[in-house]
Order: sequence, then C-alpha cells, then structure tokens
Amino acid sequence: MTDYDIIVVGAGPIGSTYAYKMAKKGYDVALFDMKNRIGQPLQCAGLVSTNICETKNLPKEYIDNKIRGANLYSPDNTQITVEKDKTVAYVLDRVMYDKHLFERAINQGVTPHLGERVMDADIENTTIKTQQRKYTSRLIAVSNGPTSQTSKKMNPHIKEEQFLGLQYTVKTENQDTDYVNLSIKQPLLPGFLWEIPTSPYTKRVGLFTDGSYNEAEQILKNKLKTTDEIIEKHNGMIPRFNPNKKITQNNTILLGDAAGQVKPTTGGGLISGFNCAEIATKNTNKMLEEENNKYLENYEKEYHKRYNSEFKAQQNVQNIIKEMTEDDFNYMFQQLKKHNVDQIISEHGDMDNQTPLLKELVKRGVIFKLVPKIGVRRLKNIWKSL
Ligand SMILES: Cc1cc2nc3c(=O)[nH]c(=O)nc-3n(C[C@H](O)[C@H](O)[C@H](O)COP(=O)(O)OP(=O)(O)OC[C@H]3O[C@@H](n4cnc5c(N)ncnc54)[C@H](O)[C@@H]3O)c2cc1C
Repeated sequence: MTDYDIIVVGAGPIGSTYAYKMAKKGYDVALFDMKNRIGQPLQCAGLVSTNICETKNLPKEYIDNKIRGANLYSPDNTQITVEKDKTVAYVLDRVMYDKHLFERAINQGVTPHLGERVMDADIENTTIKTQQRKYTSRLIAVSNGPTSQTSKKMNPHIKEEQFLGLQYTVKTENQDTDYVNLSIKQPLLPGFLWEIPTSPYTKRVGLFTDGSYNEAEQILKNKLKTTDEIIEKHNGMIPRFNPNKKITQNNTILLGDAAGQVKPTTGGGLISGFNCAEIATKNTNKMLEEENNKYLENYEKEYHKRYNSEFKAQQNVQNIIKEMTEDDFNYMFQQLKKHNVDQIISEHGDMDNQTPLLKELVKRGVIFKLVPKIGVRRLKNIWKSL
C-alpha cells in the first residue's frame, strides 16, 4: 500500500495543472512545493499567445492586458511593427494565475504539502524524501522547474543548460497598451529585451541571456526611461530545450520546465507545458489503469512528435542569431523594411509555431536576402529540416 497514487513535485503552473487533471480522474494525488506561497515571487513576463485558449486552462480574470502586435528594434533603433487587427497575445497576472491553478487542484481533492522541500526522488523505488519524512507512490511526476535535480539524475550525461531571465516591474508614463517592444542587444544574443505593458501605467521590462548577470543588469537598467520607477525586481532561469533529454524512467516522469518543454526562441513554457501535461495525463492514466510502463514511453514519444521539429527549427534559428553581430542585425532590419517583410510576418507569424513563417519566407524567396553571408548556409540546413 502506497501513501498516494501520484506524487507531484513542484506546484508551478504545470505541476498544479497535471495534479488537478489526475485528481479529476479519481486518483489520490499529493502536490509538494518548497514554497509556502504559491506563485511568489513572480518569475515570468506573463506573455502568452491566444493559442492558450485551446488548452482551456485560462479563466479570463487572470488576463491583465491584451496585445495585438510588437514593435521590434534593431541595435541602431530601426523599428518595424508587426501586428494584426485582433488580439494575438495576453499578458497574465502570473502570481494570481499560479495561485488559482494550485487552488483548483486542491479543490479537486489533491493533498497539498506546502513548505515541504523534496530532497530526493528515488526513481528505483518510486518514493520521495522531504525534510519531514519519506512518501511512497505508484507514480512520481517531477515538475520542479529548470534546475530540477531529478532531471540531472535521469540525464547524467547531458549538460543541463539554462538562460538567465531578469525582469523589473515598472511604473511608467502613459503608454500604448496594444504593443510589446522587443529590442536586440548583441551581448544578450540569442536572448533579447522586452517591454510588456500590463496597464496604461505599468509594464514588465526584462531580458533573457546566456551572458553574465552583471552585464544583463546593466543593459536592463539602461533600458529604463528616466521617468520609470522600479517597483519590483525578479529573476529566474529558463531551460534550454534538449531533444536528447530523457523525461521518463521507471515510474517517474519529468514535466514542464523540469523536462525542458519550452520554446527555444523565447523561453516561453506555459502553453507547451500545459499541452505536455495533457499528454502526460492521458498516458499516465493508462499506465496506472493497466499497470503497464509502456505508456510512459508513449508520453515521451508523443511529446517529441508534437514538439521536436518545431523546437529544433527554433533552435537552429537561435544558433544563427547567436552568431550575428549588431551590424548584421541593422542590415537585416533594413532588408526587412525594404522587402515589406513586416507584412508577411504580420500575416503568417505565430508566437508558438514559427516554422509556417519560415516556410513562407523561403517560398517567397526573401529569407536569403535578410541575413548576411554567415547565416545562409545554416538557413539552407533549416530549410532541409522543415
Ligand atoms: C524571467 C522569465 C520570464 C518568462 N516569461 C514567460 C512568458 O512570458 N511566457 C511563458 O509562457 N513563459 C515564460 N517564462 C517561462 C515560464 O515561467 C515557465 O515555463 C513556467 O513557469 C514553467 O512552469 P513549471 O510548473 O514547469 O515550473 P515552475 O514555474 O518553475 O515551478 C516549479 C515549482 O517547483 C517548486 N520546487 C522547486 N524545487 C523543489 C523541491 N526540491 N521540492 C519542492 N518544490 C520544489 C518551486 O518552488 C516552484 O513552485 C518565463 C521565465 C522567466 C524566468
């Protein structure tokens, strides 16, 4: 007899969603988090495409703002705007949203274990150890974020890589709330800077990078206007997607950031994490019903089938970007303007699925005009992989 059917480690948005779904299927689920206050501190820009509606996981009250386009800035401040005449993305109140997802799981009968850090997940025996005691279960779902020790244990031969995310919540002057601003600065590459309006007078200004904290902080501070007032500072890690990473072993699975289920180009992990939680629900339910581990392999296979080619293409784009200089970007932005690529992006761009846009740019023969020589050979390789 085990303590629970399922132990979920980490009550972030993905762990709480998975716990809720499995409790709804009638399982006895426990949800562990080392924090006492779920959702805090904020470690997210909270920007998601409207594709999140397909996950049926977002009540409207957690939407702070609606976005219909982006202003993109090159290093020399050349601006292009991509936009649609409808909402393309939402800005979420991530703190309250995480709390809601956690409380929804508890209301569904999940047993909370807050303030209880999981010191070790024993993959051989399907048990976990916290400061308090050992717990046994039939299945462990580990969703404890990008620095998961269980992920390292399952993948001893893979170097886990992460980006640094830094962000300020800022009080600002009256601003246009329809657009996000994205800017390129060479030291941050393949990361970038963002300004995301949360209301007419508040915004999130942040960046992600694989560079140093000090340099990133300096760039972020320089981005602020003299009239901006910092209300809060946050930072967190963003995992780098790795197609070779193992996400199941015995009766243990990895989920969400712990599994590296994030978009390589932006580090966004909410929609892909929710979709993977759904794939995990289907397959772990079958595994527990039939007591057959092959369904955990199916979880891994279905995740790869859904995301591998998109994420690999995004990673290739990221590799090109990383090698580009500020001059390359300035050239690229001039070309974008010259060939009216902003209109093509506005029409075919999708925050989550970037391959359709890449295909369209190849089809129209403009993509090779955009990048200076350095990227052309790599672009050809991306095209072959699409
Ligand atoms: C600066 C920044 C900006 C971002 N912006 C966006 C964005 O705009 N859009 C988007 O889609 N994504 C964004 N992301 C990514 C997004 O936040 C993550 O993909 C998402 O939070 C992943 O959810 P998760 O549940 O997998 O993990 P997490 O949210 O990391 O939750 C993990 C939980 O596990 C708990 N935990 C950790 N270790 C233990 C342990 N040993 N024992 C018990 N509990 C433990 C933690 O306390 C935490 O509550 C951003 C990330 C950062 C850092």
